Amino acid sequence: MTDLTSLTLAEAREGLATKSFTAVELTDAHLNAIEAARVLNAYVVETPDEARKMAQAADAQIAKGEGGPLAGIPLGIKDLFATKGTRTTACSKILGDFKPTYESTVTTQLWRDGAVLLGKLNNDEFAMGSSNETSCFGPVVNPWRRAGSDAQLVPGGSSGGSAAAVAAGLCLGATATDTGGSIRQPAAFTGTVGIKPTYGRCSRWGIVAFASSLDQAGPIARTVRDSAILLRSMAGFDPKDTTSVDRPVPNYEAAIGGSVKGMKIGIPKEYRLDGMPAEIEKLWSQGAEWLKAAGAELVEVSLPHTKYALPAYYIVAPAEASSNLARYDGVRYGARVGGRNIVEMYEATRAAGFGAEVKRRIMIGTYVLSAGYYDAYYLRAQKVRTLIKRDFEQCFEQGVSAILTPATPSAAFGIGEKGGADPVEMYLNDIFTVTVNMAGLPGIAVPAGSDSQGLPLGLQLIGRPFDEETLFSLGDVIEQSAGRFTPRKWWA
Ligand code: GLN
Repeated sequence: MTDLTSLTLAEAREGLATKSFTAVELTDAHLNAIEAARVLNAYVVETPDEARKMAQAADAQIAKGEGGPLAGIPLGIKDLFATKGTRTTACSKILGDFKPTYESTVTTQLWRDGAVLLGKLNNDEFAMGSSNETSCFGPVVNPWRRAGSDAQLVPGGSSGGSAAAVAAGLCLGATATDTGGSIRQPAAFTGTVGIKPTYGRCSRWGIVAFASSLDQAGPIARTVRDSAILLRSMAGFDPKDTTSVDRPVPNYEAAIGGSVKGMKIGIPKEYRLDGMPAEIEKLWSQGAEWLKAAGAELVEVSLPHTKYALPAYYIVAPAEASSNLARYDGVRYGARVGGRNIVEMYEATRAAGFGAEVKRRIMIGTYVLSAGYYDAYYLRAQKVRTLIKRDFEQCFEQGVSAILTPATPSAAFGIGEKGGADPVEMYLNDIFTVTVNMAGLPGIAVPAGSDSQGLPLGLQLIGRPFDEETLFSLGDVIEQSAGRFTPRKWWA
């Protein structure tokens, strides 16, 4: 039998439907792969018993001809999604051994459609980071290595466990979240596909909140088709999230192979950064050529407020985080450190429970929201946000269907290599992705080439609100042209 962990989700779906293998066999193959890949540190909780039970139920449904769209498909879930009875900590010590008594809406929909839970995936603490190094469970190791080197690289963040697990064959797809790039950047670092849908497309209910006006869930998968299949199950209106939007969920998969002839694709001149590595520049023009060959028309566009996006993001996101994280006080959930009175207990719990990066965000956020500084920082950042959104709207008003940019300014970097002395060095990684969250737009990262050391590089396509379908059509063109990217297996 072929290695069941190297199939795409669509191939596995086909194999299950034609009874080439069972859901239990498919799940067992993944559970074995997870066990053999613990050195990658992608999973922080493994749920083999649960997985086998769910796979058996899926087999029974498939036998009756009643399997849902994801019947028997084994998935990994980012540890930011509440899973009923299964430890959920956002990879923070402050949540201790927290086991939710409820299930997030997104995962509820995945189980409704027949998917199988393999376990919870590592991420940066509270999704704050770009390298998965802020997790209280330690960093995730990227399954990719530079040619001729065994140096350990980061898988990107914050959804580093999701991206690494998908790339290494430890699940057929994974959930992820993206506040400033956390789906797209790790996808680009691991040769996988990640889509952040339009704000409001997926319910945020039951997802640990980071910055509520920016947070969106989405899938990471091996192909554009697989990410379309997963998004269809994850998306949809949920009355429990007031920002979720009530509009029908299209059959995204139908957009794969759709014609892109005559589509206008914007190339934003402000994304051509000074000192941008030549290989990123080359990747970008190669991507544009592929779209042109498929019949699209390329036009230069201007997004003049791009240069303010990163500073504005690093005010808005910490401000919302400082407010969201106020709930972790040792009273309601997770860990508690005692004190002589309640104030001491709060202080001791938060001092021991939060990691350094999370504390930095809380301090920045509290500062920019404080009386006297609110107008100068927070209010200003919100105004900049409006201008960034307007830049995109003006582009789309000119008839542009989507915008093509690099996904990241570089390939994966080494563990411990960035951000030690200067956090801004790490923050700069989000330069191409944060604008999309600030404007609430959908963005997809698709692997498109390799750097000189053999590491995968990704391109990003940014779309109109709720037009994920165009991103899938265009992403498919890039995937068909660039081929797929799979790491050499050194870990098992
Ligand atoms: N790297 C960004 C940050 O640290 C984005 C994280 C995310 O999208 N969750 O805030």
